[in-house]
Amino acid sequence: MKKEIILIADDSEMNRSILADMLSDRYDIIEAEDGVQAVAVMSTRLSDISLLLLDIVMPNLDGFGVLETMNKNGWIDAVPVIIISSENSSSHVERAYELGTTDFIARPFDALIVQHRVINTILLYAKQKRLIGMVEDQVYEKERHSDLMIDILSHIMEFRNGESGSHILHVRTLTDMLLTCLLNKTDKYNLTMADISMISTASALHDVGKMAIDEKILNKPGKLTPEEFEIMKTHSAIGADMISDLPVHRQEPLVKVAREICRWHHERWDGRGYPDGLKGDDIPISAQVVALADVYDALTSERVYKPPFTHEEAIGMIVRGECGAFNPLLIECMNENIEQFRQSREQSSPDDIKRHKLRRISEEMLRGEGGGVSKRTLRLLDKERVRNSFYASMTEAIQFEYSVDPSMVTVSVWGAKKLGLDEIIMDPKKDAKLTAVLGDGTWELLSKRLHATTPEKPEIRLDCQLHIDNMVRWCRVAMRSMWTDDPTPKFDGAIGTVIDIHDSRTKIAELEQKASRDNLTGLLNRASTKAQIEMRMQERPEDHYALAEIDIDDFKKVNDVYGHAFGDKVLQKLARQMLGSVRRSDICCRAGGEEFFIFLEYNTDIERTIDRIYSNLCFDCDGINISVSMGVALGETVGLSYDALYHAADVALYAAKRGGKHQYRFFDSSLEGVLKSETKQTR
Ligand code: GH3
Ligand code: MG
Ligand code: MG
Repeated sequence: MKKEIILIADDSEMNRSILADMLSDRYDIIEAEDGVQAVAVMSTRLSDISLLLLDIVMPNLDGFGVLETMNKNGWIDAVPVIIISSENSSSHVERAYELGTTDFIARPFDALIVQHRVINTILLYAKQKRLIGMVEDQVYEKERHSDLMIDILSHIMEFRNGESGSHILHVRTLTDMLLTCLLNKTDKYNLTMADISMISTASALHDVGKMAIDEKILNKPGKLTPEEFEIMKTHSAIGADMISDLPVHRQEPLVKVAREICRWHHERWDGRGYPDGLKGDDIPISAQVVALADVYDALTSERVYKPPFTHEEAIGMIVRGECGAFNPLLIECMNENIEQFRQSREQSSPDDIKRHKLRRISEEMLRGEGGGVSKRTLRLLDKERVRNSFYASMTEAIQFEYSVDPSMVTVSVWGAKKLGLDEIIMDPKKDAKLTAVLGDGTWELLSKRLHATTPEKPEIRLDCQLHIDNMVRWCRVAMRSMWTDDPTPKFDGAIGTVIDIHDSRTKIAELEQKASRDNLTGLLNRASTKAQIEMRMQERPEDHYALAEIDIDDFKKVNDVYGHAFGDKVLQKLARQMLGSVRRSDICCRAGGEEFFIFLEYNTDIERTIDRIYSNLCFDCDGINISVSMGVALGETVGLSYDALYHAADVALYAAKRGGKHQYRFFDSSLEGVLKSETKQTR
C-alpha cells in the first residue's frame, strides 16, 4: 500500500530528522527548510500531502506566514496542520488556531504524543472529509435541478453572445470567491452565506439583456463605432427591464438581485460607468462584485475582437484602473485571492465550483450542529493527555490503548521499554514482538473477551504469564472497553494496564503448597493426598495403581526411650527413605502420627517393587534399628476408589501387625474375615 505523505517544515535539520525518524515507519516524509519551501511543495503536490507539521520560527517565511498563504489559497481545508513549536505563549497558540491549525504540540515533545496525534489527525481528517462529502451529496442533489436550468440558459446566451463557453461559470466562481472574502473582511454589507449563494446564482443572468442586441454588433470582430457601442450599452438596462417585466416571481429575492446585477454591472466606483452613473456604495454590492468578476474574465478570455490577456496582465490592468474604478475593498479581496483567480481559468465544469461551494456550506452546517470540537475542549484534552503520560512515566505503569479501527495498540513510553514493544503497534494480532511477550493465543483471548463486554460491564481481567526480559512472570492484564456515543453504542477500543503480580502470586502458591504439606517431613498431608490420588485415577483409569499404608513398629517405645526429638528424626528419615525408593510421579504422604502412605503406579511385577520399597523403609537411625509394618492394596483387586484402597490397605496393615510386625502384607478378601473375627474376639 502507498504510504501517506507528511510535510515537515522546520529550519532546524535536527528537528526535522527527529520527527522523520519517529514517523518514517508509517509515512513518507517531505522536508522543507523554511516557509517558502513548504509553500512551494504544497503548490505542486497539495493533494498528495496528508499532514503538515509546522514550526513557527523559521527564516524567509515563518509558520504564521505559511498558514496565511494556506488560507489565502484555500489549502487550509485540504491539509491538516499540526504546529510543533517551543513558542507556546497563549497568543501564539490562539493565533495558530485562528489560522486554521488543527493541533498544537509544545516542544520538547514526547515521541508517543507526536505519533499519536499525527495518526489521529490524519484519521480524523479523513473521517471529516467523508462526512462533509455525505452532506454535500444531499445538498447537491437538491440544488441540482434549478442550477441545471440556469446552466442551460447560460449556454444559450453564451452561444448567442459569442462568448467562451464558460464565461458565466467563471463569473459565478469569482463572484462567490470575492463575496466570501468580503464577508470575512467587513460587516458593512450584512452578507450571509445564503446571500452569497444567491448573488452567485443570480450573476448567471448579468448579460441576459444581450438577447435583445443585434447579433451583428455582438459578434463584430473589431472595434465598435461610437453608435454601435451606445447600442451595446443598452444591454444592461434591457436586461433589468426583462426581469422587471417577468409576470411572476417579482418579489423573489433572487429575482430582485438578478435585476440589480443586470442593470448596474457596468457601473463604476467613481461614477463613470453606465447606465445610471451611480457612485460608490450607491451601486448594490451584488453588481459591484459581478462587475469586477466580469471584467477579469472578459480580459482573460478570447473574443472575436481581441486575443486573451494573461492572468498577470489582466490583474495589472484592473489595478491600474484601465477598466474603470472598483471598490478598494474588492480590489483587496482580488489581491488576496490572486491564486484562485488564476485557477478559475482552469475550471471548466460547473460541478467544480459547486463542489467547492457546497463543501463550505456543509462544513458550516456540521460546525453549527456541534459536530466540531471547540478549541477549549481540545486544550483540555491536551492537558489530560499530558497528565496521563506524566503519571504513566512516574508510576512506571504499563499502560496501553487499543483501537479497533484501525486495529492498533499504543503503549506508554515506559511500558513499551519494559516489555520490549514498539510504542505503536499496528495490527497487534500479527505483531511478532507482542506475540513473543504475550505467548501464543493470549491476544486472541483478550480480544475475544473484550468483544464480549458491554457498556454496562466494560471491564475484563486476565492473569497470564508474560515473557519479560527472558523471564516468565505472572501478570494481570486489566482492560476496559470503550464505546461510541451513538444511540446504539459500538465497541471501538479499550484502555488497559498490565500489573506485575508475580511475587504475590508466587507467595500464594507457596502458601498453598505449605498448607498441603506436613511441616516435619515435607510430605503431602492426608487431605491433599486424597485429592491427588482421586484426580490421578480419574485422569488415567486404565493404569495400575497400588496404595501402601505404613506404620512404624513400637514407635511409642522409641519416643519413650530416646526422646521425642529422636522420634522426629526417625520420622524425617523415614520420609527420605520413602521418597528415595519411589518414582517422582508417585505420591508419598504422612497421613498423621507415624502413619504413612505411598501411592504408586506400576506396570509389571508389583511384588518385587513392594519388596524393594519395603526393604528401604526398615533402616538404622543412629545405631537404632527401625522397622515398619506395611499393608498394600491393589486397584485391580479392590477397584479404583480411594476409600476402597485405603480400607483394604488398612486391613492388610492390621494383618501385618497382627502377624508379628516388621513385615508387609497384600490385601486379599480373606483378610476381611480375619479382621472381623479378631475384632469380635477382642470384644
Ligand atoms: P505399633 O507397633 O503397634 O504401631 O506400636 P506404636 O507404639 O508404634 O503405636 P502407637 O500408635 O501406640 O504409638 C504411636 C506413637 O507415635 C505415639 C506418639 O507419641 C508417636 N508420635 C506421633 N506423632 C509423632 C511425632 O510427630 N513425633 C514423634 N516423635 N512421635 C510421634
Ligand atoms: Mg500407630
Ligand atoms: Mg507404630
